[in-house]
Amino acid sequence: MLKSATRVLVTGAGGFIGHHLVKRLKAEGYWVRGVDIKEPEFEATEADEFQLLDLRFWHNTLQATSHISQVYNLAADMGGIGYITAKLADIARNNILINAHMLEAARLNGVKRYLYSSSACVYAGNKQNVTEVAPLKEEDAYPADPEPGYGWEKLFTEQLCQYYQHDFGFESRIVRFHNVYGPLGTYEGGKEKAPAAICRKVALADPDGTIDVWGDGLQTRSFMFIDDCVEGLLRLMASDHREPLNLGREEMVSVNELVDMVCEIANRRLRKRHQLDRPQGVRGRNSDNSRLRHVLGWEPPTSLRIGLAITYRWIEDVLRSAGRLEHELAYASD
Ligand code: NAD
Repeated sequence: MLKSATRVLVTGAGGFIGHHLVKRLKAEGYWVRGVDIKEPEFEATEADEFQLLDLRFWHNTLQATSHISQVYNLAADMGGIGYITAKLADIARNNILINAHMLEAARLNGVKRYLYSSSACVYAGNKQNVTEVAPLKEEDAYPADPEPGYGWEKLFTEQLCQYYQHDFGFESRIVRFHNVYGPLGTYEGGKEKAPAAICRKVALADPDGTIDVWGDGLQTRSFMFIDDCVEGLLRLMASDHREPLNLGREEMVSVNELVDMVCEIANRRLRKRHQLDRPQGVRGRNSDNSRLRHVLGWEPPTSLRIGLAITYRWIEDVLRSAGRLEHELAYASD
């Protein structure tokens, strides 16, 4: 079928990954409808149609999925570790409403293929309690011990997708993202993730100053650049793989190493002040990409160093345009 004749819905199209995905789908020639409760923050959408709808409500999910053949369901109430550890009830309730209604509305409206965005937060906490953690394979989500609130909801909705496959033959794809970062992502306000927060703090710090780091900084993670994330989404949608699949990088670093990398990119020497009372999430987490390589014949290629340099420059530019780089202004007025 011609791509222009394939009508694609992206929910969460006002958000970080959704906005990038809409751009890529348009560049590929698809017809795209974006839906969100807000418009993209940093640039206008390229979607053919953009509807402001709250997808917690049944009638809105029916409207969003009408005359659509593929759905990328990215809408979710979510944020960084501070947000998801504080808002257990809101997040679980909002997301289960979105996802239960979206699946049923998509089925009733005859959607042919449906991609659900899950998360590495589904993985069992007891397999992530050391910094030198073994990379997580898809089967490590069970026996279930996910992140409270956000992770439990993701794990249950993965199951719900599979029940729809079992009972109705409804075609779904399930992706487990591992920490996505890049330009045009939230970088302040409480919903930002570690890479964006660290880039912002480094850009705003006084010369030779100090930045706050949550936890002791020894906690480990892997991070995936946004362009790789979008590429992986298109590949997974086109595949025949119906089970949950990791989408992340296997390049694990500690948060301290992440800070050092950003400082090096910014060419700044800063001290770290560790805040042990702030949430740090699991002790260690990394993606095992064995199945990803097998299923998609590909894995995210962008190194953290390269992706972070692009992200840092974008955040620095936004802050500079807003007149917030006071240390630069101070030099300029010397
Ligand atoms: P994001 O917060 O930028 O985007 C989510 C979008 O969903 C937001 O624009 C938000 O307004 C929208 N939304 C929230 N409630 C809604 C509602 N009731 N109706 C309609 N839209 C609503 O987050 P993101 O980073 O782009 O994440 C996209 C998806 O990927 C989410 O499902 C998220 O859980 C998942 N995920 C992301 C990461 C990551 O590192 N970014 C990691 C794991 C999983």
